[in-house]
Amino acid sequence: MSSPVSRPSSHVSPIVIVVGSYVQDHAWLTDRFPQTGETRRALGFNTGPGGKGFNQAVACARQDVATLFVGAIGNDHLGAIAQRFADEEELPCRWQVRDDVPTAASSIVIDRSGSNLIVVNLAANEHLDPAFVEAQADAFEGAAVLLLQLENNLDAIAAALALGARHALLRVLNPAPVHPALDAMLLAQCDLITPNETEFALLLERIAGEHIDAATLAARADTDLHLLARKLGVETVVITLGAHGCFVSHGEHERRGDTQAFYRLAPERVKTVDSTGAGDAFSGTLVAALVRFAGRPFREAVVHANRAAAMSTEIVGTAPAMPRFEAVSARFGT
Ligand code: AMP
Repeated sequence: MSSPVSRPSSHVSPIVIVVGSYVQDHAWLTDRFPQTGETRRALGFNTGPGGKGFNQAVACARQDVATLFVGAIGNDHLGAIAQRFADEEELPCRWQVRDDVPTAASSIVIDRSGSNLIVVNLAANEHLDPAFVEAQADAFEGAAVLLLQLENNLDAIAAALALGARHALLRVLNPAPVHPALDAMLLAQCDLITPNETEFALLLERIAGEHIDAATLAARADTDLHLLARKLGVETVVITLGAHGCFVSHGEHERRGDTQAFYRLAPERVKTVDSTGAGDAFSGTLVAALVRFAGRPFREAVVHANRAAAMSTEIVGTAPAMPRFEAVSARFGT
């Protein structure tokens, strides 16, 4: 049983629509990760809103680009927290509030270096109804970008992609975490994807039958990375490389402009305390920057995303750690 509820959203039409997940994060700071069977005292605890979709929507909206989030929560305490945070953030959302499944929750263990281990119960996100997504068609009218991740069921994601195609939106997929049933057909419907190293390796294996070592990916030659990226059949592939920055590979379409076919951006120097959500900061900021910097080289948007993502690692938490446009500009002079 589900009770679709559309909360009132702001009157500004969205430019970016994020169809994705909401997760209540529970983050435990430790000196080092516990070993199997070991109990470790935490040095600190933090709980807050997260989920790849919601994080990316917050990251995008904080760049002052009109954003709408579409997602599913349970009719429960954590769902109420989600709605309260979105209201405080003034982020327009259309929630499917479900009676039959709980709001998603995660446990994140963070060590001294800022690395993390995560377990997540995706709960309501896996039950986002494709019909609920289709019922949001009015919002797609006049929007420019659709941003998706893989924490929902693939039917809901396919419904969003179909709507995005019907309304000629730029379709961006952050393929995280790689879904066991993800296929080349779904990927081919995307204009831009933003995998991290692990996701890139998994996609290559799945789509092209190519086996590569994710751990040594950042050390490979740029020409090599470009050739591998081209095997995924997506026009633009941006691989996030964590503390190594990111790599961009364009296909034919983009190359016709003044855009270089492939290049790498070094990481920004920051004081990382928690890298959880850095990929979300990157994807959300990237789509916002593509809107803000429309008509300018793609590279400028990536530079901005690389900066915002680095800044997000200086604060514990995910959605609340997303930097605002002014903060990124003030720090780096964008
Ligand atoms: P990841 O999801 O870990 O690949 O990180 C996403 C993006 O966040 C990277 O492409 C960088 O732009 C940024 N980032 C992550 N970790 C760091 C770090 N330690 N220093 C600077 N930037 C980082």
